[in-house]
Amino acid sequence: MRLVLLGPPGAGKGTQGDLLADRLGIPKISTGDLFRANIAAETPLGLEAKQYMDAGNLVPSDVTNRMVESRIAEPDAAKGFILDGFPRTVDQAEALEKMLDEHEQPLNAVVSLEVPEDLVVERMLARGREDDTEDVIRNRMRVYRAETEPLLVHYDGLIVTVDGVGEVESVNNRIVAALGH
Ligand code: AMP
Repeated sequence: MRLVLLGPPGAGKGTQGDLLADRLGIPKISTGDLFRANIAAETPLGLEAKQYMDAGNLVPSDVTNRMVESRIAEPDAAKGFILDGFPRTVDQAEALEKMLDEHEQPLNAVVSLEVPEDLVVERMLARGREDDTEDVIRNRMRVYRAETEPLLVHYDGLIVTVDGVGEVESVNNRIVAALGH
């Protein structure tokens, strides 16, 4: 099972991705987590990514795509994976398609987690991550609408829409049901 989790920042992609990874026995691959791990380890990649993340902007796609390509080539991803936070642009989606084509491993579904904007802002302010200040949140929402939302059209035939409002467990059950598992 190869899945993409799509949705605005604060929609619960990380939380739902972790639960799904446990349920389906495949790794969750979060580009945000990979960047944060690189920042913590003070790698050159982390240093480059940090300036963009602090402002709520996207890290350049060449850097991001390369990081994803090497992660999905790891053995644990051979039986499937859940992508959280990638792709975030149509260009990244096209790059992902190329990577997967090479291994003849197309995506099975793109789960779109729907949460109203006032609720995602509330959730982000509550989680208090370093890039969860009001200004940066506002910019990330702007970037989401401009760059990421077009993916809903791009992935038209693969989209499975799930209501992301409610208890974590209920949302997870909805996703699993919508995927037909
Ligand atoms: P996230 O943890 O998914 O909210 O991502 C946190 C930040 O990491 C984003 O605001 C971006 O700066 C960066 N980031 C994560 N995923 C991507 C991506 N696919 N493309 C570019 N930047 C990303």
